[in-house]
Amino acid sequence: MPRFFNTLTGRVDDFQPLEDNLVRMYACGPTVYDYGHIGNFRTFVFVDLLRRSLRQNGFQLRHAMNITDVDDKIIRNAAKQGVSVQQYTRKYEQAFLEDSSFLNIEKPEILVRATDHIKEMAQFIKQLVASGHAYRTEDGSYYFRIATFPTYGNLSKKDFGGIIEGARVDVDEYDKDNARDFALWKAPKPGEAFWETEIGPGRPGWHIECSTMSMKYLGESFDIHLGGEDLIFPHHENEIAQSEALTGKMFARFWMHARFLLVEGEKMSKSLGNFYTLRDLILKGHKPSSLRFLLTSVPYRKQLNFTFDGLKQAAQAVERLRNFKLRLETAQFPKSGNPAITQLATATVEKMRAALGDDLNTAEALGAMFDMVREANSAADAGQLQQENIAPLLGALASFDEIFAVMADNDAEKVRQVLEWAKQEGRIQEASEETVEVAKSVELSDAKIDALIADRNAAKKARNFGRADEIRNQLASAGIILEDTKDGVRWKRR
Ligand code: AMP
Ligand code: ZN
Repeated sequence: MPRFFNTLTGRVDDFQPLEDNLVRMYACGPTVYDYGHIGNFRTFVFVDLLRRSLRQNGFQLRHAMNITDVDDKIIRNAAKQGVSVQQYTRKYEQAFLEDSSFLNIEKPEILVRATDHIKEMAQFIKQLVASGHAYRTEDGSYYFRIATFPTYGNLSKKDFGGIIEGARVDVDEYDKDNARDFALWKAPKPGEAFWETEIGPGRPGWHIECSTMSMKYLGESFDIHLGGEDLIFPHHENEIAQSEALTGKMFARFWMHARFLLVEGEKMSKSLGNFYTLRDLILKGHKPSSLRFLLTSVPYRKQLNFTFDGLKQAAQAVERLRNFKLRLETAQFPKSGNPAITQLATATVEKMRAALGDDLNTAEALGAMFDMVREANSAADAGQLQQENIAPLLGALASFDEIFAVMADNDAEKVRQVLEWAKQEGRIQEASEETVEVAKSVELSDAKIDALIADRNAAKKARNFGRADEIRNQLASAGIILEDTKDGVRWKRR
């Protein structure tokens, strides 16, 4: 049984779903007012790791995520550009989905937009008013009355002894230390987008979105609620208050939060110039798999400090794993078995499983994998790796990759797509030479590369070394790297 740190209880608890084998989980999704940054993706990669690890433990998943496509910033920016909220947000929603797929983040079973649930949100608020938990103000806005919810503060462990009855707040993000009645619904201001509903015209507050969508798709009580640590208060505290006030039942049992990503030791911010999106990194010549590896390498509750050195090391680590796999797949090994290596592979799978079950200890799981790679490589160098060991070793790699998802050599195609996007956005001049090189290697298909290598082998055999070198250079300039080994030629894309 896996164990996870539960923000609500403040300790590591054994995890078992409420309903049989099905895990119902909700992760707060992106606010699509701009491109997501790598900090956002620390949280989304963590959610993905949790998903994959639960599935590896044999659980079924019903994972819901919202797209927040209406909030203060979106309304303001859309109005500034003179476009509808929908026109404004679709571009960033699309970019978020693409970035997620570049990072091999799986799509949740249920992915829904806030603006498709306005009617349900209005009904929710109406019921809260009827039960005395919410009230309407003169302008037609609605607020949650936190004095009616005595356990307010349980999640964030804040003491709200000094709750000021009736003090209100209507911005989505507010003062972190004061408890205030928060906006459920905002009456329209002149020139702003709004929806007509049974509680009047206006737009929802941010918190009510997540309560409405999570309960609609997962039920009144579900297993896990996730997000970055900044969401604990007020967002998740408010979600609990609204939801439990409505149903009288426990909302989510487990609350898990990813620690904020730092960049070069500081908080990421535009003014510090250390603010990066995945696309910024790709244009600088980095691969999506390097960022995914880096983000998974530090357990989600530990501080992770993003540095470009760290990103390079992550790229090297991915290379080591991929080279090891290529070696297993292409080298010739003696026939008899080496039981110690087979045992090592089995023990590695167990160690990884145990580490991930211990509050997703990815660092320990990676440690086990790299120990295996090191030992198996030295066995191979010493001629002690044998055919029977290959399947168990590849099996351990496959089990590793079910969670970490960095083995597939498909960065080049993703980089090519980002270059296409950069052209359309007028940002192509930002693309480094490295980026262009990486993208190039997709121009040759696997079959074409194999054919060129066969030509090169034939030329070498005929002692036509000029032609052989010409082919090597042709491949190199297309971003294909050849490696001559005693077992023949191996190749890979840059
Ligand atoms: P947003 O798009 O602002 O609603 O945020 C989407 C997710 O990213 C939320 O779960 C945030 O908590 C999370 N997040 C924002 N900044 C960071 C950061 N620097 N590190 C980790 N997670 C973050
Ligand atoms: Zn949320």
